[in-house]
Amino acid sequence: MSVISNHMPTAELQALDAAHHMHPFTSNEALANKGARVITRADGVYLTDSDGNRILDGMAGLWCVNIGYGRTEMADAAARQMKELPYYNTFFMTTHVPAIALAQEVAKLAPADMNQIFFASSGSEANDTNIRLVRTYWAQKGKPGKSHIISRKNAYHGSSVGSGSLGGMTYMHEQGGMPIPGIHHINQPDWWSEGGDMTPEEFGVACAKELEAKILELGEDKVAAFIAEPVQGAGGVIVPPETYWPEIQRICDEYEILLIADEVICGFGRLGAWFGSEVMGIKPHIMTIAKGLSSGYQPIGGSIVCDEVAEVIGQTEFNHGYTYSGHPVAAAVALENLRIMQEENLIEHVRTAAAPALKAGLETLADHPLVGEVSIKGMMASLALTPHKDSRAKFASERGTIGTICRDRAFANNLVMRHVGDRMVVSPPLIIQQEDIDALVERAGKALDEAYSEVKSKGLL
Ligand code: PMP
Repeated sequence: MSVISNHMPTAELQALDAAHHMHPFTSNEALANKGARVITRADGVYLTDSDGNRILDGMAGLWCVNIGYGRTEMADAAARQMKELPYYNTFFMTTHVPAIALAQEVAKLAPADMNQIFFASSGSEANDTNIRLVRTYWAQKGKPGKSHIISRKNAYHGSSVGSGSLGGMTYMHEQGGMPIPGIHHINQPDWWSEGGDMTPEEFGVACAKELEAKILELGEDKVAAFIAEPVQGAGGVIVPPETYWPEIQRICDEYEILLIADEVICGFGRLGAWFGSEVMGIKPHIMTIAKGLSSGYQPIGGSIVCDEVAEVIGQTEFNHGYTYSGHPVAAAVALENLRIMQEENLIEHVRTAAAPALKAGLETLADHPLVGEVSIKGMMASLALTPHKDSRAKFASERGTIGTICRDRAFANNLVMRHVGDRMVVSPPLIIQQEDIDALVERAGKALDEAYSEVKSKGLL
């Protein structure tokens, strides 16, 4: 077997990558021409690439490395479990200690009436589980017609056919025959982009009422569930107006609709609580989890199911499961992650130190000529870029052009800041300290300055 290592020249690694590796959400032809950035190591909140650059990871990987990189306790937990029991399944009346222990721990952290976990290896898989859970629940209750699921435009719930259909990304739906039938999308509560002349409060209620209208259109006896992220992440950190979630909750209660909170990003501390639902005042029946459950050190996710739904599902054989449901190594690593989070009081750190510091820092960028809105909740933030603040105008150039320029400028300044269209997104590891928040804000400011010059010189304003 050929030996490929961190010590090979970057160009050689890039050529091999281009020859054999198809990347997610990427034009591989364009990537082959440019050459992928090769990350070789990481420690704390910093990545190192194959050219020796030290890059501040303002995205915690993909919103997931909550405890930061390089934690040897996590490696030790994996090694211990691999030596003792590297794999066994949880099918056929079987279980093992890591799955038992992790399920118990997650149930302890979840709201009081949510005590059952169905494990998966990712958020996508967990949301596929959810589609089948809610439909099976209503079928068991003698209402098989209650099978439609309502979601939102610009939501992200995963990339499998089921979860991608739940998501509201039209550019995904255009490829490969999504959405599957029975899934409907209402507007998102993005006041800054879509609120027009309404106040944020009015707009929040108006968006929530779209759920009621959709339920009435489809018929209450046809709708199984509503799914939403407490705060939309991949859609660009869309923090809903305060009026939104209470009205959604009222509607779900009134029409007997199961509420699925997709906590894949918001869960495990990112909003300054164990779950975003606590922060946003939501009472879900099911919560989707992944990412921060293991801080990304192992692929693991799942559905936390409320007692009532779990009891009804439990009355039949639920014909669903994954080879790696409750994988012992992933479960042991997730358990270690939760231990570290509790021992280091990470939620408290977010609530009292990191989130207020990130907010104060990013708000200093609000006056920048390109920035229209600083949207932030806990450790999720985005800067909406605009050619004209007061009218909340969009750029004339194709959506994402200015965001891409700014993202590239951030990279050139050794900061990972992602763009979603023309919003710049920040979501750093939760362990981040003041000094690195200052560095993040300074680099983001420089990236904005450079992007502004480039945008002006290209006549894109
Ligand atoms: N739900 C949400 C809210 C997400 O942000 C993501 C991933 N970004 C997913 C589901 C899908 O998770 P995964 O990529 O682990 O399948």
